[in-house]
Amino acid sequence: MMAGAGACIRRPSWLASGTGAGALRSQRAWLPAAGRTVCASTTCTPAKRLFGHTSRLGERVVKPPKAVSADGLTGQAGTPAASHTLHKVFSDIAFAFDIDGVLYQGHRGIPGAREMLRAIHALGMRYVFLTNGGGAHEDAKVRSLARRLGMKDDEDALRGRVIVSHTPMRGWADSVKEQTVLITGSHPETARQIAIEYGFKRAVTPADLIHANDKLYPFDNLKDTLHSQSRPLPNGKSASSIEDAYSADVPPNALQIDKILVWNDPRDWSLDIQVIHDLLVSHRGYLGTVSSKNGDATLPNYGWQQDGQPELWISNLDLFWKTDYPVNRFGTGAFVEALRGVWSAVTQGAAELEFHALGKPSEYTYEYAHERLLHDYGDVGSVNAAAVQRGEGTRTRHPLRRVYMIGDNPESDIRGANGFEPADGTEWKSILVKTGVWRAGTEPSHRPDAVVDDVVDGIVWALRNEGVVDVTREALTRGA
Ligand SMILES: [Mg+2]
Repeated sequence: MMAGAGACIRRPSWLASGTGAGALRSQRAWLPAAGRTVCASTTCTPAKRLFGHTSRLGERVVKPPKAVSADGLTGQAGTPAASHTLHKVFSDIAFAFDIDGVLYQGHRGIPGAREMLRAIHALGMRYVFLTNGGGAHEDAKVRSLARRLGMKDDEDALRGRVIVSHTPMRGWADSVKEQTVLITGSHPETARQIAIEYGFKRAVTPADLIHANDKLYPFDNLKDTLHSQSRPLPNGKSASSIEDAYSADVPPNALQIDKILVWNDPRDWSLDIQVIHDLLVSHRGYLGTVSSKNGDATLPNYGWQQDGQPELWISNLDLFWKTDYPVNRFGTGAFVEALRGVWSAVTQGAAELEFHALGKPSEYTYEYAHERLLHDYGDVGSVNAAAVQRGEGTRTRHPLRRVYMIGDNPESDIRGANGFEPADGTEWKSILVKTGVWRAGTEPSHRPDAVVDDVVDGIVWALRNEGVVDVTREALTRGA
């Protein structure tokens, strides 16, 4: 579940040139990296193998979906012509899979998920893995997914497809990556290293701050454990040069933070809430100052966050997530709720906590996933696979007609897909599985287009919705 109600989410000015979607799409960094591949027409799984001898595939599905005829295809399966026909059938649909609770549960892969992924990859279908997990590099998430599914982490069916909650930050403008950002999460130093790999130049962690000013946090500061790794503040800045918090005369070496990035669920809520609070009440993000505008009833939001304070970005708002423990565990959304509670007390209930949210159900994240699907695996079956691996032939947008989001969380997966209406008119449909946080038999807070037992049945439902009436679970999990 997610804590989205009442969140004050605004599109930032630096993302707002043109339409929101256009602003996001204009960033080249969203284009796929070399090394991704598509299924070449001559190497894909023949129809007979996937759908059995009675399979009836053939003509491209048109609206409204109807049973697809395979007349003339059976018996030719495996030939280039037959494979090409298959690719045309599936070339304008795609899938977005949530990971936790969909492809695995705890440390156990969902039975049949591995074979299903290999099967749809062999058919050249486009898909991404869209998770609100974070705090780790995308490649690390691929490795953990591969381990749970019993696959190799360099399999094309997995490689290069993971979008974690903070992945959209890869596409942020270079000018933003030049800014000084405070970054925190479960392992702030790891988060910083990932941010640097994304291109951020000046990332500061809470550990840096308490090492730079031992008066900043008057309690056990965990310098020997969680906050043992620190770096000097960038550009010779100081966290202790300000003596009068209310003075407008800010020393030139005072640390100024431009953005606050909550990378994933923080471990040290106390320190993080303290530091985030300090920046949100500051004058223009100078640590150790207090804005004179705070509480000014003549200003929007009673003057709170109206003085050039850093934007607060939360990488996801999931209140809970599913683990091996029988009761769902708190996620980043719980931290946000705690921060919001403190903020309400500080502002005496007068002010909203203003922040931006990434991760599902955020539109930013769905736009990012949609762009990846449009570019990464386009023109299935006709693009030379080697060219795609070199990063060529993928800068063209290949239209989609329908995308199926398969998730376990009504508040994030389903809500996001139901509400997402990309500018190109692609339809996003939502499929809810019973293997994750949603408890079957209860009314989902956001109603999906379909409820299925698991991710394999989700694919079966989707393909039948496309008119492939005789596709079966057994055929998808036969092994590839
Ligand atoms: Mg999930």
